[in-house]
Amino acid sequence: MPYIIGLDIGATKIRGGLIEKKRKKIIKRIELPTQAKKTKQIVLKNIFHAVEGLWTKNIEAIGIGVAGQVDYKKGLVLRAANFSPSFSNVPLGKILNRKFKVPVFIDNDAHLFTLAESVYGEAQKHKFVIGITLGTGIGGGIVINKKIYRGMNNAAGEVGHMIIDTSSLKTKLRCGCGKGNHWEAYASGQAMVKLYKHFTGRNQNTFKIEEEAKGGGEIARTVINIMVDFLAQGLANIIHILNPEIIAIGGGLSRVDILIRPAIYETKKLLLYPSLAKTKIVKSKLGQDAGILGAALITRT
Ligand SMILES: [Zn+2]
Repeated sequence: MPYIIGLDIGATKIRGGLIEKKRKKIIKRIELPTQAKKTKQIVLKNIFHAVEGLWTKNIEAIGIGVAGQVDYKKGLVLRAANFSPSFSNVPLGKILNRKFKVPVFIDNDAHLFTLAESVYGEAQKHKFVIGITLGTGIGGGIVINKKIYRGMNNAAGEVGHMIIDTSSLKTKLRCGCGKGNHWEAYASGQAMVKLYKHFTGRNQNTFKIEEEAKGGGEIARTVINIMVDFLAQGLANIIHILNPEIIAIGGGLSRVDILIRPAIYETKKLLLYPSLAKTKIVKSKLGQDAGILGAALITRT
């Protein structure tokens, strides 16, 4: 029976799955740390371990999503913002092909998340789909008729770095890319942590901040309310430009209902006319499997 290996390589974790090609089911999973800030050699060793941990007879191909800029034709990871600088221009496709002797396909992780959503997830009945990965940063993908829209050189969908109006907030937050006024800096997990620190002087993770807000904590609530407005701005911009049928939101922060629900409500208020508000905005139900399934899907092409 033929199998596919799908890997989702984030800055924190490598998540992998062994997928039975016919039933399109994940039959084995693996998860290990990426150690993205360490050297290229260490990251590669972790990727090898993930593949070896899933290896079986009859592997037909390996599909990989990477949180970074990818030349999918050459199987090249050009740049991954949250990785060490040594992990640039890495011919990951060639390296893995040489080691494991099967075809290897690589793309940006948010592109693959969106592809998985449009084939298996909330968006499977829709033709024009936007996927947003809301985690430490914000990634985006555009899928039309089950095909990834890549733009000129596969950089389409870099929504995390769209410029938004942040004048309502006195303090300025810097984006991971080094610039200011970027959506990702104001509406992602890193924004939540930074805003909380700004108001309290304390470091706190997003789980604790969410818990505190749910328990009525005033500062945590303020942080979330600020983020609701910024999240809505970005979503409204996307709808104005692309008029998609559906936006699926995934990534770690999509679990935070008290952020996502009001943001969807506020987004609709920012839209120019009622037909734009027909875009459905939903939370992904595939969860962490989306990245793995999306990675397996690109091996078809
Ligand atoms: Zn940026």
